[in-house]
Amino acid sequence: MSAFTRRNFIGTAAAAVGSFATLQKIAGADRSKSDPGPGSPPLDGQNPDSMWPPGTDSKSLVQNFKYPFSFANKRTYEGGWSREVTVRELPVSKTLAGVNMRLTAGGVRELHWHTSAEWAIMLYGTARITAIDADGKSFVADVKKNDLWFFPSGIPHSIQGLNPDGCEFMLVFDDGNFSESETVLLSDSMAHLPREVLSKNFGVGEQAFANLPKQELFIFQTDVPGRLEDDQKVAAGALGKSPTDFAFRTMEMPPTKQTKSGEVRIVDSRNFEVSTTAMALVTVHPGGLRELHWHPNADEWQYYISGKGRMTVVATGNKARTMDFQEGDVGYIEKTLLHYIENTGDTDLVFIEMFKADHYQDLSFSEWLAHTMAGSHTARAGDGSPEH
Ligand code: MN
Ligand code: MN
Repeated sequence: MSAFTRRNFIGTAAAAVGSFATLQKIAGADRSKSDPGPGSPPLDGQNPDSMWPPGTDSKSLVQNFKYPFSFANKRTYEGGWSREVTVRELPVSKTLAGVNMRLTAGGVRELHWHTSAEWAIMLYGTARITAIDADGKSFVADVKKNDLWFFPSGIPHSIQGLNPDGCEFMLVFDDGNFSESETVLLSDSMAHLPREVLSKNFGVGEQAFANLPKQELFIFQTDVPGRLEDDQKVAAGALGKSPTDFAFRTMEMPPTKQTKSGEVRIVDSRNFEVSTTAMALVTVHPGGLRELHWHPNADEWQYYISGKGRMTVVATGNKARTMDFQEGDVGYIEKTLLHYIENTGDTDLVFIEMFKADHYQDLSFSEWLAHTMAGSHTARAGDGSPEH
């Protein structure tokens, strides 16, 4: 038994993988930086700053501020799917929630409305969006990648995927507690109203409602719609077209700020009048940094569209935490907390910053975007103010 002293045991284990020198080579000079127990190399590889945090991170933890959409449960239908990241998945995200949705060509997100306002960015393909404004006037438009829409609280709307391959988009709601499965659906509402009331309301016989669906449709498959102009004409009916533009063409505006490290487009109620949710669409080139800053007026909700990056959030009470982000991840930073986003990959890092605020606001130490290499500090772009 004496052969199995602790010292001997460790010595034997080390010999089994080669030598202590090998271990040290794996973990650098610091032997405490080894993790011989169970682990998931793919997940660890995606989260190097959680595996071995920078020495500047605090040992007391800052609440988790990352949730990958890969962990979200998909609700699948014939015609598309939806998945969401809300305060239930990411407890810190109290002010905004995200819903990722895919519609096939012809797939329809049924006419519905909700108490939260809906902001959206197109991620892939093309879609036709329809809304009825507060005066009963119609809005119909086609949208493509990077286009936005905004439907205020209570405005009924529907979305349909177009040829050739439908669409995918990200919805952002101004309530962390939002759930896409608790929206007011037309089919569901009708199914819960007495037939004789529907008959009186619409002035038609009860048998007209015999085939109403008993359950919500949510997403369903139908034919791809025809020409936009035809749909607009039909939807306009007697009341006509809405004077409100619920859509925004992000790439038709020049960047709000551009340096050799990247660019940003800021869209809020100053250029997208109907919207009470503010957005910055940010591209950081390899080696670039979205500089240290904070937001005085709102929490920030992020969605990573492409590339790889890392972010440190400095919280009150001398706390700091660094987390790594990649395509499909949601990030969140509470109002007034200092943070930066660094491109840690070799391709462009693209993400959106979202705020429950009608205008974008930030305070930074210098510029918007900088290069991390010493001596390559970029010239101040535009008027140099942190806001546009
Ligand atoms: Mn909606
Ligand atoms: Mn920010």
